[in-house]
Amino acid sequence: MDFIKTVSKDNTLKKLSEKEISDFRNHLQGTLLLAGKEGYDESRSVWNGMIDRKPALIVQCQNSADIQTALAFIRKHNFILSVKGGGHNVAGSAVCDGGLMIDFSKMKEISVDAESKKIKVEAGATWAELDTAAQKQGLAVPGGVVSTTGVAGLTLGGGIGWLRRKYGLACDNLISAEVITANGEKIIASEQQHADLFWAIKGGGSGFGVVSTFEFQAHPVGPEVFFSPVFYPATEAEQIIKSYREKSRSMPNEVSTFLIYGTVPAGEPFPDKWHNEDYILIASMYTGKVEEGEKVLKPYRELGQPIADFSGIMPYTNVQSFFDEDYPKQELHYYWKSIVAKELSDAAISMFIELGKNRPSPLTTVDIWQLGGAIDQVPHSQTAYPHRNAQHLIAIESNWEKHLPDQENIEWTKNAIRELLPFTEGSSYLNFEDAETEDVKRAQGSHHKKLQEIKNKYDPENIFN
Ligand SMILES: Cc1cc2nc3c(=O)[nH]c(=O)nc-3n(C[C@H](O)[C@H](O)[C@H](O)COP(=O)(O)OP(=O)(O)OC[C@H]3O[C@@H](n4cnc5c(N)ncnc54)[C@H](O)[C@@H]3O)c2cc1C
Repeated sequence: MDFIKTVSKDNTLKKLSEKEISDFRNHLQGTLLLAGKEGYDESRSVWNGMIDRKPALIVQCQNSADIQTALAFIRKHNFILSVKGGGHNVAGSAVCDGGLMIDFSKMKEISVDAESKKIKVEAGATWAELDTAAQKQGLAVPGGVVSTTGVAGLTLGGGIGWLRRKYGLACDNLISAEVITANGEKIIASEQQHADLFWAIKGGGSGFGVVSTFEFQAHPVGPEVFFSPVFYPATEAEQIIKSYREKSRSMPNEVSTFLIYGTVPAGEPFPDKWHNEDYILIASMYTGKVEEGEKVLKPYRELGQPIADFSGIMPYTNVQSFFDEDYPKQELHYYWKSIVAKELSDAAISMFIELGKNRPSPLTTVDIWQLGGAIDQVPHSQTAYPHRNAQHLIAIESNWEKHLPDQENIEWTKNAIRELLPFTEGSSYLNFEDAETEDVKRAQGSHHKKLQEIKNKYDPENIFN
């Protein structure tokens, strides 16, 4: 090989000589991966099986100096850039075709200060890794509900999980971040320093800089919690969802709930007679004493005759990974969208049920996340996350076997959102969106203009798309 082909931002092909590549490699402490080399395919692989992109160069950074070196190379050659944290973005925005990908998989250092309850975590860590380290000190940072997801992307887009109504979004618990800006400068963003950038990365998404380290405020949680996943027959959907809506109004902030319309898998631990039938799952976690949790969550276990009730005391880390096996990496094709709602009207519930009944794939779910609580207590202007007063997030998670038609599932998902529009606020949650500009704008909602101004200040040449 005397050169490799790369794609520049203006879409022109560019050749890099072997000397240019080896000079670049010599300036890195981490690893430079090229197509055909060991580790390249694993590094470029992301969670969604629909994504198969091939960067010309991958830098597995060892430290922030490597990020600076990679960004200098990008600026010099005007390459397309992508950044991979946990690789779970539904649209696969972590990986680019023909450009340079910064891969954080070798930067996973986590340090926990048990006294101040502050945790510093490098941008390559997953929530499973952060939870394990934090739980050793009886602590947790609000994350998501699937443990394989990256800390980085989830936090930058907001971050809703089992602790959300008690302790807020992941981004609400961010104290500071080390950021490498487009011009290669290493800065700390916090309330005191670069406060505008700090505001933007709290729920405004990626694209403002490369975050190398996050510093979080953690909270005492567990080690055991009361978790209550109760499956009801979807034939009773209307009554179950309306009763849930009623009871959810008076639930304390300790309770965070997730309602799912899905299909019972044909296997253990579900009774045979329910295999392949549709269910409504009410899954809740109580953040507090387990005995209290059992008492408080009882009403959700009495909404009807359940198919199965798996409620009980379990380690917090098990709750965090409860849904992991439903979302295998690369094995399925995925396309997700969402829409926020201030209230769940009867009409919204009817439409939700209609969509649940008509899912084109049995692996697809339609979900309602209860928001509110601590999320709502943060002033709207304090962070870039724009949906503080929405009490519900309706998510369409289309998941299908690889051999099934992509387009049919994608179109169904987009149409589902159109159908929900009249009953909701119209805006969506950034972390469940694909990368189309209009969708990002919709998800950034009322903060879009301010986010654009901050983007123009910190990334005037639009290095981070
Ligand atoms: C199975 C599954 C479950 C999920 N569950 C939840 C959930 O419970 N709650 C929730 O809120 N969301 C959830 N999400 C959505 C998730 O928050 C987003 O997909 C998020 O983008 C994942 O972050 P990541 O680091 O894994 O992804 P990546 O694809 O690596 O990154 C996401 C975006 O952030 C950018 N980025 C990554 N790292 C950095 C960095 N260090 N600096 C700057 N930019 C960076 C990437 O370029 C990319 O555009 C889930 C997603 C999946 C696939």
